[in-house]
Amino acid sequence: MRARKCFRCGKDLRYSSYIKNWNPDDIEHLTEIWECDYIELFCCHCYSFKTKYQPNIDTEKNAKYIKIN
Ligand SMILES: [Zn+2]
Repeated sequence: MRARKCFRCGKDLRYSSYIKNWNPDDIEHLTEIWECDYIELFCCHCYSFKTKYQPNIDTEKNAKYIKIN
């Protein structure tokens, strides 16, 4: 599994943390997202910030939530 960083703050994201908050039935789809170059991932903190202050930024429309514990 390749390494991913938060699109906004650059924090390292862990695949194990990413998938454990989701339904196991969705793992295959989630892995496709993780490996996809044009979908950006955000850490929990940055996702909260974005939805609160920057909800309509078009360049981030493919962003997906990723929770880091
Ligand atoms: Zn972040």
